[in-house]
Amino acid sequence: MIIDIHGHYTTAPKALEDWRARQIAGLTDPSQAPKASDLSISDDALIESIETNQLAKMRERGLDLTVFSPRASFMAHHIGDFQTSATWAAICNELCHRVARLFPDHFIGAAMLPQSPGVDPKTCLPELEKCVTEYGVVAINLNPDPSGGHWTSPPLSDRSWYPIYEAMVAYDLPAMIHVSTSCNACFHTTGAHYLNADTTAFMQCLTSDLFKDFPTLKFIIPHGGGAVPYHWGRFRGLAQELKKPQLREHLLHNIFFDTCVYHQPGIDLLTTVIPVDNILFASEMIGAVRGIDPETGHAYDDTRRYIDATLNLSDEDRFKVYEGNARRVYPRLDRALKAKGR
Ligand SMILES: [Zn+2]
Repeated sequence: MIIDIHGHYTTAPKALEDWRARQIAGLTDPSQAPKASDLSISDDALIESIETNQLAKMRERGLDLTVFSPRASFMAHHIGDFQTSATWAAICNELCHRVARLFPDHFIGAAMLPQSPGVDPKTCLPELEKCVTEYGVVAINLNPDPSGGHWTSPPLSDRSWYPIYEAMVAYDLPAMIHVSTSCNACFHTTGAHYLNADTTAFMQCLTSDLFKDFPTLKFIIPHGGGAVPYHWGRFRGLAQELKKPQLREHLLHNIFFDTCVYHQPGIDLLTTVIPVDNILFASEMIGAVRGIDPETGHAYDDTRRYIDATLNLSDEDRFKVYEGNARRVYPRLDRALKAKGR
């Protein structure tokens, strides 16, 4: 089967966006603040938003299952305070859970966290635990920069993050390291901030001994790993200068890369440089790059084409990228599939 580990609910009914706009308006004018219960979206509306979008494309492209989380750019952890994020995360996680329940063969949930700049990450634990125990999520999205492009939080190796990691280890949950919208005019959200953050998160891990403290912790660096695969020699050389072990030993038991690189040469490079055991199929469809590539006539985010076409992978390798690695890195996903005989 083909598992896409990186999907967001980018096509949620507009009522969600309207509710969020009222929540934001309520920060300056409390009379406008909505209650969570003011948002009402029917199952039919959810079904239509998925069937005509993500599921239609999955069928067209032959993808079986998507790990589905709230829209990343809408997480916007920098807005309001912890309570703002807590209410918003609960709403978005519940919607993804409902999608997974309505389409159990095609979607399985991953949770966003109610992060807020300057707030202790351990405040996220109740939402995380609810999403695991009640919703059966198989992963979380962890934002290394809740400030939205100003990088006011300590690096991922800082002990303040450890309560999240302890929960991840206890629940067998990997985290996709995923920032949200940029509110820094210097960084375009999906063209700069996302890729900067992917690269930054990798380097934060490289300079630290985080995985000595958490040998089973697993991070997925999305968007093909940002600049990491392209500059692999630089990172290897830096690790050497810092007297760290070779990168395969130092980081590749714990760090994995997705395939959201939207052209063939990018996938060829990724699969040349990064060991196949560390590459997981993903498309982040109907996301940042929704157009058709005039050079190929196909959607940029139809990433299966690049995996199928690259000469770097054997059939056995392709099985790992499409399914085997996802089952290994997302143990709860594997268990959920096995419970259904898949
Ligand atoms: Zn994403």
